[in-house]
Amino acid sequence: MNVKINPWSSSSIQDYSRLFDDFGISPFNDLIPEIKSPNRYIRRNIIFGHRSYDLVIDAMNNQKPFSVMSGFMPSGKVHLGHKMVMDEIIWHQKMGGDAFVGIADREAYSVRGISWEMCRETGINEYILSLIALGFEPEGHIYFQSESQQIMDLAFELGVRANFSEMSAIYGFSGETNISHMISALCQSADILNPQLSDNGGPKPTVIPVGADQDPHIRLTRGLAHKMNMFRIEKREQNNGNFYFSVRSKSAPSEALKEIKELAPGDAKLFEGHVDVYNTDDFNDLLETVRQVELEFGGYSFVPPASTYHRFMSGLQGGKMSSSSPDSYIALTDDPESSVKKIKRSKTGGRITLQEQKELGGIPEECSVFEIMLFHLVEDDRELARIHQECSNGKLMCGKCKAYAAELMKEFLVEHQQMRENARERLHEYGIKE
Ligand code: SF4
Repeated sequence: MNVKINPWSSSSIQDYSRLFDDFGISPFNDLIPEIKSPNRYIRRNIIFGHRSYDLVIDAMNNQKPFSVMSGFMPSGKVHLGHKMVMDEIIWHQKMGGDAFVGIADREAYSVRGISWEMCRETGINEYILSLIALGFEPEGHIYFQSESQQIMDLAFELGVRANFSEMSAIYGFSGETNISHMISALCQSADILNPQLSDNGGPKPTVIPVGADQDPHIRLTRGLAHKMNMFRIEKREQNNGNFYFSVRSKSAPSEALKEIKELAPGDAKLFEGHVDVYNTDDFNDLLETVRQVELEFGGYSFVPPASTYHRFMSGLQGGKMSSSSPDSYIALTDDPESSVKKIKRSKTGGRITLQEQKELGGIPEECSVFEIMLFHLVEDDRELARIHQECSNGKLMCGKCKAYAAELMKEFLVEHQQMRENARERLHEYGIKE
């Protein structure tokens, strides 16, 4: 059976490893040793895959510019699943990235039918307050899609490079799909490329931390980034078996091609519509030259966006988290006492009787309480390993373990909700008017 990923479908993705084969997502494991002070989602393999994240690591490790961008659809309560993405954005900001957060109100309006007023209220009172409370700094950028002319202009231009067949193949659009839904997909591509516009510092590696269900946006946007660039670079083989690079364009003025010929590292020859470059040792030098000329002649110049993919949290009762079932998730705005009750009622990996649990041990891998500690509540890896071990060997019983997790959850929510109130006072620092 072929895995179909559609960001608007409710189906969960059970077999992550198939994404590597079916969609060309690369495993994240190999990159971990390259990352200085990895966050807990990286350390604990919650982030399992990526596209081109090596470019972002290179920028992080060498103090070169890079960005992080993600969006939130203002359609419900902000919960622990959103916190994971917010934590990832904030971590990249701390690592030196320029951080962008788009509130996807156009998507909420076109796909969910939520009014503009409700989009704004939910965007601020749920998502933006928690984002700031978790540590997002004012140097970053928070905006509503519908209020950004830059996003609209870019989305319109991206639309010239996208066609219905391609969008349908990626998103499963049908004849019933409303046109604004399609436009909102282009707005999200514009969000993703926005950090690389010249107003935002020009081309640079940009990572989009997402769940695997959002991969269609990433694939579409990577393709569009290539199509928008003034030049494309092809690696070609000569008759003698040596390689050369052909820098090609259908739209570039002849002066731009001449400039590529002048500046390109290696021996360059100018032809109608392309420049061929021989004996280039350093592809990155050539790429740098091409980007410089693209910007000089007013063209677009985008590095195809990178992405990281994280596992989803399961629902507290097992199965999926669902916004229509408040007992399946913990919202960051939940009354702290109600979170205690939710944790105490949640599905564990414990055995039917205490005796059995002492003899066989629990199964933390099948326990939603352990999952909350793994994703959010226990920062110290040794502490988490101790809980895992004591559960598995039958020393720790679920009652005590749940009480511990519930206490941590309550402490977190009390503090977070206080920080949210402080954040309300600071909205103006982020250019947000209530
Ligand atoms: Fe889950 Fe804790 Fe019970 Fe183990 S002891 S199954 S981690 S609740």
